[in-house]
Amino acid sequence: MARPYILARDLEITYNAGKSNEFKALTGANTDIYKGEYIILFGPSGSGKSTLMYAVMGSLPPSGGSLLIGGDDIYAYETERRTYYQRNVMGIIYQQFNLIPSLIVRDNVALPQIFAGIDKKTRDRRAQAILDRFGVGMVADKIPAMLSGGQQQRVSVSRSMVNDPEILLADEPTGNLDSISTEQVMNKIREINHEGKTIMMVSHNAAHLPEAHRVFYIRDGKIVRMVVNPQRKQIKKVEEGETLVTELEQLARLYPYDSLEMLRVRSIRNYITQDFNFDQLERLSAFIERLVLGKMSRSQFIHLLAQKYSDGGIGVNKIEAKNMATRIQKILDASQDIRKFRSGRNLDLAFIYQHKFLKRIERHLLKEFGIKLSVNQRTNLEDALLNRLSGAITDDELIQSFSVSGKLGGVGLHIKTAYKVASYFEKLLAQGVSHEHVGGEV
Ligand code: ADP
Repeated sequence: MARPYILARDLEITYNAGKSNEFKALTGANTDIYKGEYIILFGPSGSGKSTLMYAVMGSLPPSGGSLLIGGDDIYAYETERRTYYQRNVMGIIYQQFNLIPSLIVRDNVALPQIFAGIDKKTRDRRAQAILDRFGVGMVADKIPAMLSGGQQQRVSVSRSMVNDPEILLADEPTGNLDSISTEQVMNKIREINHEGKTIMMVSHNAAHLPEAHRVFYIRDGKIVRMVVNPQRKQIKKVEEGETLVTELEQLARLYPYDSLEMLRVRSIRNYITQDFNFDQLERLSAFIERLVLGKMSRSQFIHLLAQKYSDGGIGVNKIEAKNMATRIQKILDASQDIRKFRSGRNLDLAFIYQHKFLKRIERHLLKEFGIKLSVNQRTNLEDALLNRLSGAITDDELIQSFSVSGKLGGVGLHIKTAYKVASYFEKLLAQGVSHEHVGGEV
């Protein structure tokens, strides 16, 4: 893979160095950006986003660490080369457009070419062509004040691109625009990125995040979090350690109203219950679905579970895979019974049927958990199961009935066992719900 195009290591930028108002705006930023990437810098106001961009632009020399662009230290360039870099490698657009008010639009756009020594006719032709391309060719002879905000920003996009730079820096380019103009400008920036240009954009608008390959969250002068957008084909190879962040993003999509803390809890829960990451869980769900629907055999299921993740599997060991298949099968078999029971409960023979059914479920549970009970305890267990099955008690009350002593009408299981058996029974119930019962009692 190619080298990073923009590489910052422990980058520090200090304003007013050595003075009483000295301020360190970047306190050790690390990043690597590849050619063609669309990067959004996201973070609270004053966190150092613009500072990072202006450092890349060649206007703020590092006070510590290093910054390389295309492998070069641009701050070591001779003046002439640095100027060339700023005019031809770099294009920038600002929130305030920064057009020259006394010049007509075409001259504003042609301006950067004057320094490049291009003759007036060619300059004007190029300026007009690029204005046409960005949909503002018809206002070329007007002064900026006569244009709407959206038009002015598209003029400034045209100006930034007139020398065909490699990198486009955009400092909150839509901060002053209405929603329609915002969309037009964002579309143009997307287009520029699709042509292979590298984009670094500061934005406060979360709706823009899906545009980017990666989003850098900046806080207190550091890049504290980097999020890969799973919807865009990545240019930079995604590292292993970055999956947790991606998982959070995916969880956030599934649970859009959860706080970050809650998402973290979910992530940890996934981790300790399964030791699987989000992608593995997703894949597992798909496999289970096929197994349950009879579209996949037990041996195919085990084979897929045991296959390496990179080969389309989950990557658990074979014994674990068999174990999982067995547990799923047990749940499915037992829940089959529940399903039958539920659909047949209005028959005249319901009472006898129910009794047999409860005995079967009871035997299954006792065997599954290796539990031995007295006759009295068994009767209480059957009562509790029936109560839960009919919806007379909640899942918590079921645990209670399991753990309360036999004398008090319970089953007298240790609380941990009570919890395990009750959770397992809930799984059976969930699987045993047939479609006509969904939305009704459970
Ligand atoms: P952001 O773009 O995230 O809003 P900036 O990079 O503009 O943040 O600013 C980061 C910090 O540096 C802020 O606290 C700001 O006040 C300070 N700062 C920015 N420019 C200057 C400057 N020219 N002189 C002194 N401090 C500055």
